[in-house]
Order: sequence, then structure tokens, then C-alpha cells
Amino acid sequence: MAPVSKKYDYLVIGGGSGGLASARRASAMYGAKVGIIESGRLGGTCVNVGCVPKKVSWYAATIAETLAEAKGYGFDIEVKGFDWPTFKTKRDKYIERLNGIYERNLKNDKVDYIAGRGRFVSGNEVEVTDSNGGTTTYGADKILIATGGYPNIPSDIPGAEYGITSDGFFELEQQPKKVVLVGAGYIAVELSGIFQALASETHLMIRHDTFLRSFDPMVQEVMAKHYEEGMGMNIHRRSKQTKIEKDESTGKLRVHYEDSNGAGVLEDVDTLIWAIGRKAETGDLALDKVDIGTDEKGHVLADDFQNTSVPNIFSLGDVSGKVELTPVAIAAGRRLSDRLFGGPKFAQAKLDYTNIPSVVFSHPEIGVIGLTQPAAEEKYGKDNLKIYKTTFTAMYYSMLEHKGPTAYKLICHGPEEKVVGLHIIGLDSAEMLQGFGVAVKMGATKQDFDNCVAIHPTSAEELVTLK
Ligand code: FAD
Ligand code: NDP
Repeated sequence: MAPVSKKYDYLVIGGGSGGLASARRASAMYGAKVGIIESGRLGGTCVNVGCVPKKVSWYAATIAETLAEAKGYGFDIEVKGFDWPTFKTKRDKYIERLNGIYERNLKNDKVDYIAGRGRFVSGNEVEVTDSNGGTTTYGADKILIATGGYPNIPSDIPGAEYGITSDGFFELEQQPKKVVLVGAGYIAVELSGIFQALASETHLMIRHDTFLRSFDPMVQEVMAKHYEEGMGMNIHRRSKQTKIEKDESTGKLRVHYEDSNGAGVLEDVDTLIWAIGRKAETGDLALDKVDIGTDEKGHVLADDFQNTSVPNIFSLGDVSGKVELTPVAIAAGRRLSDRLFGGPKFAQAKLDYTNIPSVVFSHPEIGVIGLTQPAAEEKYGKDNLKIYKTTFTAMYYSMLEHKGPTAYKLICHGPEEKVVGLHIIGLDSAEMLQGFGVAVKMGATKQDFDNCVAIHPTSAEELVTLK
């Protein structure tokens, strides 16, 4: 075994949202000697192939919608098209700038940036293979696994390899004229919305009758209807792909499928995107060397304090699979460093995984916090809940022929009507949710909502005037 070249108090494997946050907190705030190992680009999934370039793409799609709607407000404009290659080049440059900022932040916070792929040699040593194949071994008292995840591709569909995943979405040099998305979660709903708004012929293939099935039924019903009838997306319900073929001369795909209308083929497909979930990135870590437990889906098992089954090894973020969101990984990473290096004051520091707000950047956006109605009924009993709902047309649409949905639901529990679930669909829901999230996290009741004077004219005011 190679000798240890450098020893750290804290060695972090994975320079994504959670790893960076934890490493910087440990070094900058508590003076720990910290190294962070990253095999790809600093910033991880969120910055490079996730939240950030996705949200920029969502903005482009939203501008396309606004331009189409401008006529309704009296603007005489002619939109000649959308220049995807120019947009993509600018988006890539923005991400490169962010990569540089992340590297500088590490330097400023005195965290050693170790470029390469890490694998366990023992419970206190990690071997790093750099891009030239050279290896170096680092020692550490404490080690964090924050290696994130990667997108699934089906293994049982002939030709599945002709499809791409969300990673490939960010590499597309041209806008596909005809695109198929398979999946029913955040990514399928967000990317299909972007393509549809940018006028690609968009086909969304889902296995059941609706998408976002873990969300409140109101969200599922309102959004699936709007995507299909309002935006004109082709939704293939109860569908499965039976074979994907590629025409080598044109590069176009032929997608064979079965859905609720029987068997069919989609011809001349430019791009097929699998958005069917993600797996934990543990393959190269040699976890067997340290005997760390994983669950049946391969996530590294970690308790509420991010402890794994090995006392000096911790895990958080997507690789431990609890709530796969960037702010969750960041918050868990910071609290872990507070606990490990912050002294007795932080001995019990941990992230509270309840009431985490989340947004789907669909068109329009969906915001949720707390329990869905079925989950609340199961937890508290139907008779102990009061549900407040409203659907209306936002004022923005008053000048437009086409209308987008706005639907809000509050789920309140007990005689004091504590808000245990809040579900909102409509323009600006993403920005609205943060403030309502604070209220729900503080334990607000329906009366607290009602006591807050409305802001007029907004859509949000409907949430404090629900009857
Ligand atoms: P990552 O950010 O994935 O970081 C892990 C890092 O570890 C990677 O950089 C990887 O290269 C590195 N690594 C892996 N193995 C090794 C190894 N052996 N050695 C060295 N380095 C290694 N979340 C939101 O909150 N809002 C959003 O809008 C949002 N949009 C998303 C859109 C898409 C398309 C996707 C895919 C995800 C999105 N997410 C969003 C989820 C969010 O990106 C993740 O939850 C978050 O990035 C998880 O952070 P992490 O630190 O656990 O892992
Ligand atoms: P999700 O786990 O959210 O959704 C994947 C869905 O695809 C499943 O729920 C399932 O739905 C469907 N599915 C699974 N297998 C198949 C299959 N073989 N064929 C067809 N459909 C299938 O995964 P995503 O990849 O969308 O996103 C991963 C995670 O990243 C999210 O859970 C979220 O935490 C995070 N994320 C967050 C975002 C945000 O905050 N805005 C944006 C993007 C990602 P069903 O059972 O109904 O078929």
C-alpha cells in the first residue's frame, strides 16, 4: 500500500452541493485541516447538470411563453425563433464561471482541492486516482461520503442506449424538433415543460395515468390536464417502450411503444431522454473495504446525524438518498461540520428533515411543503383535518385568450387548524413558497395565515383569505 502523503482532520469525497458546504464550514469556521476530492467539475450535479443550467433553461422557456403572450397586452412583435446554440454557449460559459468561483472559494477557505477519483483503502485512508492514472493516498480522522448520484437508463429495452439522460440534455447542441421524455418525476415534468414551451414537438411517456404521483392529487390532476390541454403536450399514459431503433443515415430514432391506446411507433424522433430516477454513486468507492451499510437501492445508510455504520465515516446528500435536493445536502453538510468541529454547543446539531419546501419548475411552477392530503389523512384521520382549496385565473391572464392554472390547497390539522400541508400551482409559486415555508416550519395555524393582511393584487393573497 502507498504511504499516506498527507493527513487531514476531515476528508470529503465529492465536491458537489453537500461536500463543498461541509468542507468549507469545517475549515473556514472551525479551522479544521480539510481536503476535498472531486473527480468531475466542482459544484457537482446542481451546478453542472442540474438546478442551475436547468433553471436558466426554464427562464428561456418562460420568456418564450411571455413573448407569445405579449400580443395580448398590445405588443406588435414578431418572434423569429430561438437560437439554441447561442443560448447553450452562453449557459455553458456561465457554468464555467461558477466552476471558477467554487475553486476560488475553496482556496479562500483554505480547503485543499484534490482532483481525482477517491476510493477507500481503509477506514482512515482514501486513494485518489488522478486524470493521468497516478495515485496518491490521503489519511484522515474523519471522512465524508458526498458522492451524489447518476441517472438511470433501463437495462431491459432494446436500443435504450440511443436515449440520453438529463446529463445529455445539457450537452444538446441543437434544439430537438421532436423529443420523447420517459419518466414521471421532477426531471421529466421540468424538461418536457421546457421543450413544449420552446415549441419542440414533445411526447411525455408515463407508466400510469398521471405524473408526480408522490405529490398531492390536486397537483397531479391540475398539472397533467394543463400540460396536455393547455400547453398541447402529447402525454402517453400507461405506456412502455418496447424497442428503440436508430436510423444511422439520419441519426433519427424510432420509438416503439405500447400505451393506453395500443401499440404505436414514434418516427423521426431527434432525442429520447430517460428521466426515470437516479442511483447512488458508490460504484468506485470500494465500500466493502470499510464495511459500510447500504440500503436495497444502494444508498449509503446514514442516521439522523449523518453517521454511517463506521464511527468516523459520514454520509449525506443524494448518495444517502433521503431528500434529493441541493439545499438539503448543503444544510446537512453544514450541520455535520458544526457537530464534528464546532464544540459542545453543536453536539446535537443535525438537519431536521421534516417540512422541507420543494418546487417543481414546471410551467407554471408547483410549490409544496408538508403532507399531501392522503398522507395527512393516514397520519391524522380524515375527521381531524380541514382542507381549504381554491382555483382561479390569475390576473395576468385577464388580457390573454389562453389561461394558465392557479390552484392552492391548505391542509390543516386539529381544532387549532395547524397547517400541515401547503400545495400551490401557478405563476410565481417558486418565489412565493419560501416565505410560506417559514410560516409552516414555525407551526403556523390557519388563523395565523388569516391574521396576515393580504397584499393586493397578487395571487398569493388568496392563501391568506381562504374560506
Ligand atoms: P452532487 O452534487 O451530485 O455531488 C457529488 C459529487 O461527487 C459530484 O461532483 C461527483 O463528480 C463527485 N464524485 C462522485 N464519486 C466520486 C469519487 N469516487 N471520487 C471523487 N468525486 C466523486 N435540486 C434542487 O434543490 N433544486 C433544483 O432545481 C434541482 N434541479 C435538478 C435538476 C436535475 C436535472 C438534477 C439531475 C438534479 C436536480 N436537483 C435539484 C437535485 C440536486 O442537484 C442534488 O440533490 C444535489 O446536487 C445533491 O448534492 P450532493 O452533494 O449530494 O451530490
Ligand atoms: P424521480 O424519482 O423524481 O422520478 C422518477 C419517476 O419516473 C418515478 O417516480 C417513476 O414514476 C418514473 N419511472 C421510474 N422508472 C420508470 C420506467 N422504467 N419507465 C417509466 N417511468 C419510470 O426522479 P427524477 O430523475 O425525476 O429526479 C431525481 C431527483 O432529483 C428528484 O426526486 C428530486 O429529488 C431531484 N430533483 C429536484 C428538482 C427540483 O427541486 N426542482 C428538479 C429535478 C430533480 P411512476 O412510478 O409514476 O412511473
